[in-house]
Amino acid sequence: MSDSVKYLLPEDRIPRAWYNIAADLPQPLPPPLHPGTGKPIGPDDLSPLFPMALIAQEVSTEREVEIPGPVRDVYKLWRPAPLYRARRLEQALDTPARIFYKYEGVSPPGSHKPNTAVAQAFYNREAGVRKLSTETGAGQWGSSLAFAGAFFGIEVKVYMVRVSYQQKPYRRVLMETYGATCIPSPSNETDAGRAILAQDPDSPGSLGIAISEAVEVAAKNADTNYSLGSVLSHVLLHQTVIGIEALEQMEMAGHWPDVVIGCAGGGSNFSGLAFPFIGKKLREKKDVRVIAAEPAACPSLTRGRYAYDFGDTGHLTPLVKMHTLGSTFIPPAFHAGGLRYHGMAPMVSHLKELGLIEACAVKQNPCFEAGVAFARAEGIVPAPESTHAVRVAIDEALAAKEEGKARNILFNLSGHGHFDMQAYADYFSGKLEDRDYDEAALQAALGALPKVAA
Ligand SMILES: *Cc1c(COP(=O)(O)O)cnc(C)c1O
Repeated sequence: MSDSVKYLLPEDRIPRAWYNIAADLPQPLPPPLHPGTGKPIGPDDLSPLFPMALIAQEVSTEREVEIPGPVRDVYKLWRPAPLYRARRLEQALDTPARIFYKYEGVSPPGSHKPNTAVAQAFYNREAGVRKLSTETGAGQWGSSLAFAGAFFGIEVKVYMVRVSYQQKPYRRVLMETYGATCIPSPSNETDAGRAILAQDPDSPGSLGIAISEAVEVAAKNADTNYSLGSVLSHVLLHQTVIGIEALEQMEMAGHWPDVVIGCAGGGSNFSGLAFPFIGKKLREKKDVRVIAAEPAACPSLTRGRYAYDFGDTGHLTPLVKMHTLGSTFIPPAFHAGGLRYHGMAPMVSHLKELGLIEACAVKQNPCFEAGVAFARAEGIVPAPESTHAVRVAIDEALAAKEEGKARNILFNLSGHGHFDMQAYADYFSGKLEDRDYDEAALQAALGALPKVAA
């Protein structure tokens, strides 16, 4: 039995710049629009929420954006992250495919999210901001921003989707350990939260509602900015440290990936791994298939409409063009809370329209089955979100076996599942349902999309 192989980079190989895919696009990204005027928004529209440095990154078309020294210094705690060849998994599957994975669970909060949380905390502190408000679903983003806030002296307030707040107490305690405040959403603290509670006092909450609450707090308080953990182009930009390192590590391994896979909620870990490879494809005509793996219960890329929509339920955000299930769509409960968002990053949506990426939707039971097989072969217990990427990687390896041909598969293991063992317990006891979303509710939400001149 040959052992799994780990490809490590020395500390000085932490990337010095993030990669901005906007520089290499064959067609530019459709701009965000002001919901009142229908005209493209300008920096002033965003300045109540974000520091200018991040607003500039949001619209930048420079290929390389320098990573500030203090951000690289914090990255040193866990970066460069390891890339592994999953030899034991290959053997368990008896596949001729080579399976590689980049492991982002080595960060202190346990996922890829600190890659952007640290950068966002840094730029806000540089701009003199002392408080950040944000939302979190399953709690990974909230705990990542809480961690970053502790390093840069920023007070962090997190609106956590109520069902997760109740189901995942340890994530909340982790946020509190880092010094953040965590409030179940919908809450009585905001107009957006009160409006939902008036309709439904027992509302389980949703990411869209929690975003409205966090945005409202930042908009109404001059000393507070807002921070988002996925979807926006500057967030995807920060995550490209993953793929830049992986390019170098695949070179060490002596293989170019035929397929690159990431799970996709808002699209940030997927983009972080994939964009540098897509950049090579665009500039150097390197061939690579890129697959976004999304949950069948919340399938924005495969079943949503490509249209301008709000990022939140309360309609406080600008309109962005994305694959969306409608901002009023509330997905059924399932365990990968980090994938329960109605939209997909505009940049990921744009690449899908351009035919540069593929998408597939997977159900949670087969995902957990893949997660367990991965844990038994490779030792790492994947986060429920990450099991979506594991599932699709295993399916690619099995397809290679079927065809009797080798292929190189690279996927992003976006985080570990140590705070999600209840989800595994439910899977083992047969309690996990593969619930479909409600088609009528989806049609109603799509029917309520804002009207925007094409
Ligand atoms: C939040 C999260 C995701 C989903 O978010 P993306 O922006 O789509 O990456 C995936 N995996 C893990 C471990 C997460 O914490």
